[in-house]
Amino acid sequence: MPRQHVNIHIALIGCVCLCLLGYLSWFESRAQEAAAQVAAGPDFDSPDSTSVIVNKHRPLADPAYVPQDLADIGGVQLRAEAAAAYLQMNADAAAAGVGLVAVSGFRTADAQTQLHSSYSNTYGQQAAESISARPGYSEHQTGLAVDIGNPDGACSLEPCFEATPAGAWAAANAHRYGFIIRYPAGAEATTGFGYEPWHLRYVGPELAATLTGSAQTLEQYAGLPAAPGYPADRAR
Ligand SMILES: [Zn+2]
Repeated sequence: MPRQHVNIHIALIGCVCLCLLGYLSWFESRAQEAAAQVAAGPDFDSPDSTSVIVNKHRPLADPAYVPQDLADIGGVQLRAEAAAAYLQMNADAAAAGVGLVAVSGFRTADAQTQLHSSYSNTYGQQAAESISARPGYSEHQTGLAVDIGNPDGACSLEPCFEATPAGAWAAANAHRYGFIIRYPAGAEATTGFGYEPWHLRYVGPELAATLTGSAQTLEQYAGLPAAPGYPADRAR
């Protein structure tokens, strides 16, 4: 073979090898990115994340936070993704003969201030703390929480709601739409709130299935410390 041809062959083989190496390293970096995303898991910190955890130890960084994608679900508002999931859930419940109504969804910091002081005036501060959050510390301000009820108002915002048609249907099905019962019975030492079978929190179907299947609170699943009260109260 003439020397010139040999040189061309070597050059061609070199090109093929370089291309292959380039492709392999691109492939490897994509695989590493994908693995990092899986390892990172749900985002519990960003206020706009559907898995954000707000509790008595974790206020919203901006006390006046307002989600930018609120949508109406019948007189109350939720963030768009949660609203779409709620409307689907509501339609499926209705098809099964169960009426669900949205009693309360997104609340501004001001509305939360009013609610909290009204509960404090009625029940005293200590009792109020276990049934309503301080402004900036409420899941309702994230636009991802909805309090549901029965159309006839039976057991509205009371633990006996669990045995009503809406309560029983939600307990059995809400996770399929991405909602969890955020404050389960017996978890007050972790969540800071008594049993609220009516308070549904949107976290997305995948996380909701995991949490419901494992009977863990969001705090337990995320490996966060229990948040039974506001840190300042413990220091007092
Ligand atoms: Zn609520």
